[in-house]
Amino acid sequence: MNNTVGVLALQGAYQKHVESLSSLGVGSRLIRRASELNGCCALILPGGESTTISLLLQKNDLYSPIKTFAENHPVLGVCAGMILMASDVDDERVTPLGLLPFRASRNFYGRQMHSFSADVTLDFDDRPFNAPFIRAPGIEKLSPEITRLATLNNNAVMIGMGDHIALSFHPELTDDTRIHAYWLNRFERAMYY
Ligand code: GLN
Repeated sequence: MNNTVGVLALQGAYQKHVESLSSLGVGSRLIRRASELNGCCALILPGGESTTISLLLQKNDLYSPIKTFAENHPVLGVCAGMILMASDVDDERVTPLGLLPFRASRNFYGRQMHSFSADVTLDFDDRPFNAPFIRAPGIEKLSPEITRLATLNNNAVMIGMGDHIALSFHPELTDDTRIHAYWLNRFERAMYY
């Protein structure tokens, strides 16, 4: 089976995802135009600046190809990538893709503190995950079909529905590959633990 994972590479922290995938033995391809999605089994939307990524998605005609791709391929969205996966965003400069029914609140954690690391409680693993939060968005108005997968102070910081996962923090900036492995396992069945 083809297991090349596409990593959207318009702006932001995409290279680190390539390294996380590579340390799990998974190949990847940087995505800058729609044709590059052909042959990918899944897609990562990285962190960065959601207003900028939103503009670049429009400029590169990627909105509708990514929406179509996401109908039958898994998507992992991190931080700005999570904002883009939402159905609603508290900033009209961002046009979200609407892949998951929730509202993203930009800079939810950034208002309190620019960036910090915290132990996040995972619902799928006993050990906490030491997670970097960088001007991190909040997850609000979760629709009931979404599963909460991790929390910080009882706030959801990682959610999933089907094969799609969105998270507020940056697992690719750590050596801990459990988040990427969990997502890959969800659609490839226990290959990466
Ligand atoms: N808060 C940023 C935004 O709105 C995201 C920050 C990040 O991706 N680290 O785009």
